[in-house]
Amino acid sequence: MTNQTANDLAFSRAKASIPGGVNSPVRAYGSVGGTPRFLVDAHSAYVTDAEGREYVDLVASWGPAILGHAHPAVVEAVREAAGHGLSFGASTPGETELAEIVRERVSVGDQKPIGKIRMVSTGTEATMTAIRLARGYTGRDLLVKFAGHYHGHSDSLLAEAGSGVATLALPGSAGITVETASQTLVLPYNDLDAVRAAFDEHSERIAGVIVEAAAANMGVMAPDRGFNRALSEITRRHGALLIVDEVLTGFRVGSAGWWGLEASRVVPDGAGWEPDLITFGKVIGGGMPLAALGGRAEIMDYLAPLGPVYQAGTLSGNPVAVAAGIATLRLADASVYRRLDEVADVLARETSAALSAEGVAHSVQRAGNLFSFAFTGETPRNYDDVRAQEGWRYAPFFHSMLDQGVNLPPSVFEAWFVTAAHDDAAVSRILQALPAAARAAASA
Ligand code: PMP
Repeated sequence: MTNQTANDLAFSRAKASIPGGVNSPVRAYGSVGGTPRFLVDAHSAYVTDAEGREYVDLVASWGPAILGHAHPAVVEAVREAAGHGLSFGASTPGETELAEIVRERVSVGDQKPIGKIRMVSTGTEATMTAIRLARGYTGRDLLVKFAGHYHGHSDSLLAEAGSGVATLALPGSAGITVETASQTLVLPYNDLDAVRAAFDEHSERIAGVIVEAAAANMGVMAPDRGFNRALSEITRRHGALLIVDEVLTGFRVGSAGWWGLEASRVVPDGAGWEPDLITFGKVIGGGMPLAALGGRAEIMDYLAPLGPVYQAGTLSGNPVAVAAGIATLRLADASVYRRLDEVADVLARETSAALSAEGVAHSVQRAGNLFSFAFTGETPRNYDDVRAQEGWRYAPFFHSMLDQGVNLPPSVFEAWFVTAAHDDAAVSRILQALPAAARAAASA
């Protein structure tokens, strides 16, 4: 009998009580194989598993931990808030403070796309509410999304593309009715002709277009230059709303998210437009369950209690989560974003160099400080392109890194997340692990 590790034991025990042993599927290591690491501690740039092994972490709780894990000031804010009660089910001054911080922060010059903001607990709720609001506001039924973009697991947003352009989608999960799925049009990313064709055919019926500000759930894939602005022009022309999903990019790629990078011309050719609605999650809660949707006040006021679109939550605007969010956003200043960019630059460059040294064809996928690698010689621009990569090279790469003490996302379709706590020691531990991992990818 092989020796069972503490992780093996934790996993078998979990599987007896929890479907697949996990509360979110990617944690099961389905696409890389092996036993998931059960984590017991996370501090600064490191996580520790059930066996007491420490890893440099490049998952960062899938995005929230931009300051590094368990930043002392954030933990202190949480302790302080918790001391006053965990949840009231009533309004608190902190919610307004966080709303004001977000409104102020997500602005560039006189562009202020967040007139009002409503807090919820997960990114899924934020996007689900945003599309209900778009439908309620416009009185239309259809929604446009892009293949390979992830917006959480509500029914309308799990629709997948059939082949070709503007296909009425088939359900992307069992349990979603064909009627629901058929109200979502799934188009190829970066394909404005497909968007125009969908509007030509269904102009009177499309309530909105939802798009990741920069795609990061099929690996990272920045939009083509001017793509988001063109979406804004097309939706406006047809009386539909543009919902920009910044759950992942918001407060991570920059102080005002990806939209902020475009509006302030850090990303070229993107300025001069505003989203109608924006969704936030992850960083806004500093690692606690908090997310939000915001946008033009006139649209946001369609939400109950002012308007006819219903949305509610027992734990919405939870005071402990709000305290973590406020503390995190207050600390995330220009020096934090500079460090995130620096670490991302070094890791993207050196990982690419290690792969090249072993002759592994790859494309470095970047969107601000988010990055990932696609195992293909071409630059993918949509979901079909990225699915055509030699994805099997990732599992041996991932496991080599893990064995050497680096915790990467357990799927080639996920972004790598850096934190401002990745100091030179943490970065050099990652760099040392790269040559062996690249060899593993090459021989796969
Ligand atoms: N939108 C995007 C762009 C996301 O990346 C995610 C989660 N990774 C979600 C929505 C859903 O957020 P949550 O997991 O908090 O429901």
